[in-house]
Amino acid sequence: MTAYPYEVHEYDVVVVGAGGAGLRATLGMAEQGLRTACVTKVFPTRSHTVAAQGGIAASLGNMGPDSWQWHMYDTVKGSDWLGDTDAMEYLAREAPKAVYELEHYGVPFSRTEEGKIYQRPFGGHTTEFGEGPPVQRTCAAADRTGHAILHTLYGQSLKNNAEFFIEYFALDLIVTDGRCTGIVAWKLDDGTIHVFNAKMVVLATGGYGRAYFSATSAHTCTGDGGGMVARAGLPLQDMEFVQFHPTGIYGSGCLITEGARGEGGYLTNSEGERFMERYAPTYKDLASRDVVSRCMTIEIREGRGVGAEGDHIHLHLNHLPPETLHERLPGISESAKIFAGVDVTKEPIPVLPTVHYNMGGIPTNYWGEVLNPTKDSPDAVFPGLMAVGEAGCASVHGANRLGSNSLIDLVVFGRAAAIRAGEVVDPKERNQPVNRAEVDQALSRFDGFRNAKGAVPTAELRLEMQKTMQADAAVFRTDKTLAEGVGKMQKVAAKMDDLAVTDRSLVWNSDLMETLELANLMPNALATIVAAEARKESRGAHAHEDYPKRDDATWRVHSLAHVDGARVTLSTRPVHLDPLTTEKEGGIDLKKIAPKARVY
Ligand SMILES: Cc1cc2nc3c(=O)[nH]c(=O)nc-3n(C[C@H](O)[C@H](O)[C@H](O)COP(=O)(O)OP(=O)(O)OC[C@H]3O[C@@H](n4cnc5c(N)ncnc54)[C@H](O)[C@@H]3O)c2cc1C
Repeated sequence: MTAYPYEVHEYDVVVVGAGGAGLRATLGMAEQGLRTACVTKVFPTRSHTVAAQGGIAASLGNMGPDSWQWHMYDTVKGSDWLGDTDAMEYLAREAPKAVYELEHYGVPFSRTEEGKIYQRPFGGHTTEFGEGPPVQRTCAAADRTGHAILHTLYGQSLKNNAEFFIEYFALDLIVTDGRCTGIVAWKLDDGTIHVFNAKMVVLATGGYGRAYFSATSAHTCTGDGGGMVARAGLPLQDMEFVQFHPTGIYGSGCLITEGARGEGGYLTNSEGERFMERYAPTYKDLASRDVVSRCMTIEIREGRGVGAEGDHIHLHLNHLPPETLHERLPGISESAKIFAGVDVTKEPIPVLPTVHYNMGGIPTNYWGEVLNPTKDSPDAVFPGLMAVGEAGCASVHGANRLGSNSLIDLVVFGRAAAIRAGEVVDPKERNQPVNRAEVDQALSRFDGFRNAKGAVPTAELRLEMQKTMQADAAVFRTDKTLAEGVGKMQKVAAKMDDLAVTDRSLVWNSDLMETLELANLMPNALATIVAAEARKESRGAHAHEDYPKRDDATWRVHSLAHVDGARVTLSTRPVHLDPLTTEKEGGIDLKKIAPKARVY
């Protein structure tokens, strides 16, 4: 028994996280009359989704012909043929519905002259199964789309009587007889402990960009869901695929949306050359993100970087009419001024590929149900647990996510999880009694960190982890850097036993919270670098210099990583190749999405 008393809350569903995915799931559950609690460590509208700028993909066809089949094809190709076909079909097909729902909930989208939702071009989004010109598919509320979505969903959730537990930090899952039955949480402002006992737990905790030194994601993106899942003995999937966004502001890492290139912006090297024309003659600056990031890195490596140290690239918007910048890209114009001291109407912005998104995460099916795969049953569901949003891996982004496909993933799968919960959760059934032994175990781990008296301060170990990941699990990877990186990361992870926490209080203890976050980042980081070292091919964001080709015969498989302390055990799971509907049923012609080389 630990000395921490706790309060028990009974709900049908507990959603952990109040970003776009968590709020869409919360709203959907509450709308169906399920007693729903949303637990979040930051105020809902401060979740990282608020920073999403460019927009949300859906084949509305407001700016020219489009179809969900084309969107699906682009997603399949973007994923470098690692995404699950059923999930990608579900995403592309449900996307328009999900966007119109957002519109009806009140999201203030930008408008065309006829009053339709405005859509802009984004990298990798094309027409006619990649044979036609780029399409304008990305629905936008200026360059503040995430902000608009988050505020709308929060308001709607409150209207539907969802209950919010704000600034509560979820510590661990409670697992009873092979099913998830709740979570343990620490209330940050008064130090009390809370147990949420429920029939369904939904993890919507976002990505783990902060495992790296330079990331566009918020400091709160620490992979807490992945950490909790790893501690519960469940695997993480496809963690080696980390997206670098081509245009983080040099120095700060702050994002300049791809929408900037969508509106006509372009990149140049030290010779003033628009080098993307050489690498991707058709789509140029709007090739997919992994491609553009690699080309920029090659330019810098070959001595054509800009700046005193030749270590970055220029993004030009200064040729665009100031009215367009003011109307369509006001937020990034401001960011460029604040973080780079640049007036975008006059000068280029200094940019560098920066960690932006985690394709990997907690494996789920397209209903958001978490999987606990075994050899004989690779799609076995772990009861009582769902994961949605960047924390999950459905998997629609495979080895590389297309821009504006994450926001749509949040709302499509947040909504799907709610629909599924409506089927599998019976509000009339009583909750299982609280598993006190599991709660005690979570609290003794918490207590261990609170009283940690080792030699290494949390901030120091975090920096060591971030620098190692940045150097050794980067845009380009080699056998040598990865093997060294794995060795270094194992040493870094072992130091978790020697942490020093100096603040012992329970109220607003940021030292303790950052330590708990580091303990969550660590399994995510370890899984990333170990899975990267094992994957002997190049696919999507995983660009391996010793194996420059994609190897479908051996490697068109999801990788799974079980992490236990500093030890990572890898296995694989087949990629879903079957669509939900056949061509005859109005689905997709499988021949159209058969694997081929990915060129833009
Ligand atoms: C700068 C930037 C711009 C982007 N622009 C776009 C774009 O234009 N289009 C697009 O499609 N995608 C974009 N993306 C990607 C996309 O925004 C993210 O993938 C997405 O918002 C993630 O949403 P989420 O709901 O999964 O998680 P988040 O929005 O990160 O929310 C996570 C939630 O989990 C909670 N949480 C986490 N851990 C705990 C814990 N231990 N206890 C309690 N609560 C916890 C947090 O409080 C938070 O509410 C962008 C990303 C960034 C970083």
